[in-house]
Amino acid sequence: MLVVMQEGATEAQTEAVIDRLVEMGFTVHRSTGVRHTVLGGVGPQDDFDPAVLEVFDGVKECHRIVSPYKLASRHFNPAGSVIRVGEVEIGGLEIVTMAGPCSVESEEQIERCAAIVASQGAAFIRGGAFKPRSSPYSFQGLGERGLRILRNAADRHGLLVVSEVMDQVQIPLLLQYSDLLQVGARNMQNFNLLRELGRVRKPILLKRGIAATVEELLLSAEYIMSGGNYEVILCERGIRTFETSTRNTMDISAIPVLKRLTHLPVLADPSHGTGKRDYVIPMARAAVAAGADGLLVEVHPDPDHALSDGAQTLRPEQFGEMMREISAVARAIGRTARRADFSPRGASAQLL
Ligand code: PEP
Ligand code: MN
Repeated sequence: MLVVMQEGATEAQTEAVIDRLVEMGFTVHRSTGVRHTVLGGVGPQDDFDPAVLEVFDGVKECHRIVSPYKLASRHFNPAGSVIRVGEVEIGGLEIVTMAGPCSVESEEQIERCAAIVASQGAAFIRGGAFKPRSSPYSFQGLGERGLRILRNAADRHGLLVVSEVMDQVQIPLLLQYSDLLQVGARNMQNFNLLRELGRVRKPILLKRGIAATVEELLLSAEYIMSGGNYEVILCERGIRTFETSTRNTMDISAIPVLKRLTHLPVLADPSHGTGKRDYVIPMARAAVAAGADGLLVEVHPDPDHALSDGAQTLRPEQFGEMMREISAVARAIGRTARRADFSPRGASAQLL
């Protein structure tokens, strides 16, 4: 159930509608837009008459939402959600880049990486401190020490931090060190984790599962949002298909599909999406052209010696090339991207 209030509806009118929805057994989620307040009622029954609420003062329209996800639906915020992390807005005109190694390996590696990605215009440094590896014998990450390394390097270079939370017990640590909490593909349907993340007040980056449909991704976002955390950013990262020439099949078409179905910002991860560094730049360009709000990419000062995912990790100079090219694509479609040579500490933030 979705109630759109008229422009200029008073607080008392809005409250009256909320009270009635609660009486009817709905849990009410409120989205206060620039022009309209939208009330999303998630309720026990789907079969009531919306006209009951349409007669309330200040109500513009009322709809039943038939999709299985309600709060994630585009109807809940037709203009699209812009999620602010620190000074950075995700889902606005600017293409936001999050870049760094697959795993945090050492202080020196992250320091070099932070310098590289900051100088090329990335807004976030990425890096896993808790790693979901297919084999239990592979490098599992540095844990809290890794998070501390990331935080310190990010602060030195004016970057934000995104890092993965694999388990509910890690949430407090991630809240302490990371600005954006990543849920990896393997955990997209870890419903207990999603429910816990609904209680936190930091934005979540939710990656698509390797065999998940777009609808399943949106239902996972709904788990987080129904707990009261509306700040969810989605990420297409490739899905498993019969094709073996790439690690995964980067589903570029999921980007415009998601942009139509949901108001949530959508990122693309061409590193996991392809598994091979030569394909990362073309897919990054394609993702931006298709409407992605940002990119999550793996970059390492020396990818040949990376402890994980070296084959899909960009070399520093390739990252610079990617940033220049996505700036050009962004400009062609009326968006902006921070260009190479951008220095977050510099006097002028250059936007192209
Ligand atoms: C990652 O981004 O570090 C990662 C493990 O990716 P995914 O969950 O998409 O495999
Ligand atoms: Mn990786």
